This record gives sequence, structure tokens and C-alpha cells, in this order.
Amino acid sequence: MSTVAAVDIGGTKIAAALVDDTGAVRDRIRVDTPAGATAILCVVAELVAGLRDRTPEPIQAVGVAAPGVVDTEAGVVRSATGTMPGWAGAPVRAELTGRLGLPVAVANDVRTAALGAVRDPRLAGCRDVLHVSVGTGVGGALIRDGLPVTGPHAVTGEIGHLLVPSFGALACGCGRRDHLEAVAAGPAIAAAYARATSQPVRPLTEVAARMRTGDIDAATAVRSAAQLLGRALAGLVAAVDVDAVTLGGGVVHGIDEFADLVRDALHAEALPPLRSLPVLVPQTGPDTPLLGAARLARTTTQGIRT
Ligand SMILES: [Zn+2]
Repeated sequence: MSTVAAVDIGGTKIAAALVDDTGAVRDRIRVDTPAGATAILCVVAELVAGLRDRTPEPIQAVGVAAPGVVDTEAGVVRSATGTMPGWAGAPVRAELTGRLGLPVAVANDVRTAALGAVRDPRLAGCRDVLHVSVGTGVGGALIRDGLPVTGPHAVTGEIGHLLVPSFGALACGCGRRDHLEAVAAGPAIAAAYARATSQPVRPLTEVAARMRTGDIDAATAVRSAAQLLGRALAGLVAAVDVDAVTLGGGVVHGIDEFADLVRDALHAEALPPLRSLPVLVPQTGPDTPLLGAARLARTTTQGIRT
């Protein structure tokens, strides 16, 4: 039995657990994310040391899912958004290896989630998968031959900035206009509902709840976002060609109908060979990031490719 420690660093919480080579997750811990890279890496080292004390077998390696643009080869965070002040430049691998004396692998959280998503038994044998995350933003990751693709600028899978001009001049978080993220992310759906109803912007959960009570404007806001995402993904899968698309993130998990709407729109828009492409929400659930971090640890530090 080979055991690795898996860590998922988020903007508000840090989760850690032990994962064995069957994919069983145990000894889950969750703590609040402190401010600043030094404090975060200190907490992560303490969590892994705590896990090491709780298990008789040795921990072989540590896999870390981290927000921001992550240089996996160097083990360093290259840039981060304003939600994680001081996180850019964090020397994750060097710091944790120094503190723990263990091999450490680190990757962007969406790429790590993609590695976890492909553990879904329905994707057995799939080597090429596009993972799409819809939450406060729209992100993605491309798995090629079982491993996440980084690309020369570390941006492979950043699908949120595909041009979708049909909805008009909406501002994207990157500063440009008419991008997918500006029409399909959670805040965009809430804003579309607010525009249609002239009511103050409500959280997405409220829009979803109103949709279930028969609110036409709420249903239209959700359906428009999902359909546009599905249509954009149809073009994307024609460009990159994959075995399957997996969907994750707060919007997908918060609105049951969303994934079906994306799937139907993708199939309707797609080239003929792609009209029955599997589009699914992984059954790995909340453990997906930890399963991905564990797989990252094994593939990167042990050269295991499963
Ligand atoms: Zn953009």
C-alpha cells in the first residue's frame, strides 16, 4: 500500500487528507486559509506533519492543488488574483520539501481537479479529457494522454476568454469584452437576471431557487449561460478533440439542470463525430481536488501513470 498526502489550497479553506493507491481518501482535515504565502505554507506543512503522525505507513509524496498560475516544473506560483494577496511568487515545492523532507508536486487547482475528475469510473480508458469549471469564473484544463497540459505560457485550458460576441458588450474579468466568462460564470448569470428584472443583483443560489419556482427570467438567465457555454465548447472540442468533457465548479453543482443544458447545447452545435461526446459531472464529488492532488503527487514525483 502506497500512501500520499493530498492538499487543496483555496481562497477561504485549506483541505488535506491521506489517499492510498486505490483512491481511498481518509483523515480529511479542513482549516481556514491564513493571509500570505508564508503563513499558508506553514499551515500546509503542519497539516501534512499531522497526517504523518496519524498513519503507521510512510507518506511517499505530497500533492498540492494551488490557485493562480502555477509553474509545476519549478514548483512556484507565478501569479495570483487579488483574492489571494501575497500568494504570487510562493515557493511551494522548495518550502514544503524543506520543511517535510518529502517529494512535493504542485499544480494549478483547475488542472488538479481535472486529474481528479478523470478518476470517475465512467471515464476508464479515456486518455484525453477537457475539464470545464464554472463558478465565479470559467476555467478549464486539458488532459492529454492522462496528464494535464501546461503549455509554454502555462495557460492551456483557460477557456474563459473565448470570444462569444452574441450577447453584447459585457466586460470580462480580464478587462476585455464579449468573453465566455462574462456571460457564463455565476456572477454573469446573476447579473443577467438582475438586468431582466430590474431587481438588485442576487446571489446565484437565489436565481437557481427562483428558477425552480417557475420564474421565467431566472430560467432564461441560467439557460442562456448554459447554452452559450455548450455552443462555445462544441467549437473547442472540435479544435482539440477529446474522449470526454467533464464539468465542475459551483454553478454546475449548485444548479442541477446546468450540466444537462450544456450537454444538449454542445451536442446540437457539434460536428457530426462529436454529437454523442460524453459530457458528465464526475461522481468523485467534493473529494475531486484531493484525488487530483494525490494523482499529481504520484505522476510527478513517482513517475506513475495510471
Ligand atoms: Zn476575458
